[in-house]
Amino acid sequence: MKKLCVIGDPIAHSRSPLIQNTMIRALGLDYEYTAQRVPGDQTAQWLARAKAEGYAGFNATMPHKENLVPLMDCLSDDARRYGAVNTVRLRDGRAEGTNTDGEGFLRALREADMDPAGRTVLALGAGGAARAALPKLLQGGAARVYVANRNLRRAEDLCARDGSGRMVPAAFTPESLEETAARCSLVVNCTSLGMSGTAGQFESFAFLDALPREAGVFDLIYSPAQTELLRQAALRDHPVSNGLGMLIWQAIFALEFFTDSSIDGPAMAALVREALES
Ligand code: NAP
Repeated sequence: MKKLCVIGDPIAHSRSPLIQNTMIRALGLDYEYTAQRVPGDQTAQWLARAKAEGYAGFNATMPHKENLVPLMDCLSDDARRYGAVNTVRLRDGRAEGTNTDGEGFLRALREADMDPAGRTVLALGAGGAARAALPKLLQGGAARVYVANRNLRRAEDLCARDGSGRMVPAAFTPESLEETAARCSLVVNCTSLGMSGTAGQFESFAFLDALPREAGVFDLIYSPAQTELLRQAALRDHPVSNGLGMLIWQAIFALEFFTDSSIDGPAMAALVREALES
């Protein structure tokens, strides 16, 4: 049986083993997928161990995504662009790194009827998740993406790295969010505000009142299933979606990469969603 896993620290609450083993069983593949706690200063040691123990590949979450980049023998365009690896395939002693978060995000957005094509987007946050997700908005045809972040310098860096001129930094103050939201038809939350186990919350939701009524609100957070942002947006009749679809689709793309095969994504996504919700 071939070995796959997810590494991270902490890792006990990861949904990846359930998601991947559900797909592996459904496809009748000869793999098993586990979770391994690997401290942040041991990424290189882990890679050597995974090769020695014959792993076929692994996923990586915090705090390994950036550490893996210089350790790879080859990198996909997305992994290079984001400076982060979430999926590693091991073959003939070589490590091939990719990042399926951005593609998973775009697919989930479309599945939620929030195709970014032609939209002006208010993106909240400029951390690791934003670095993977936001470039996909432009690839998906978004007209412009305003990146609002508490640490403005981080938003400026992200926009400068894109270089298209269609990503514009914005302040994270209630006034600035309100003013920007009025010009947008999609809001994407890439901050950790509202996530289970974290303390922070939006100072004000008034920007949702400025947002045109038909504008969608997509939150990358999936735990809780309904963040306060989504609850407030739904109260104002905006179409809403949480980040569960993104989690599922990045896993589907990762399994395709591990196994070098294509999967019936929509059918698999439905199956996994059922497994996660049961
Ligand atoms: P990160 O790199 O630590 O970035 C956190 C972001 O949240 C930064 O933009 C940070 O702003 C902002 N933030 C944190 N506390 C804040 C506060 N009190 N006020 C304003 N802004 C605040 O984390 P990440 O990896 O990007 O993850 C962000 C979220 O995305 C997490 O909740 C995670 O669950 C979710 N996520 C979901 C998926 C999925 O598959 N659905 C995948 C990846 C991540 P500063 O830069 O100013 O600190």
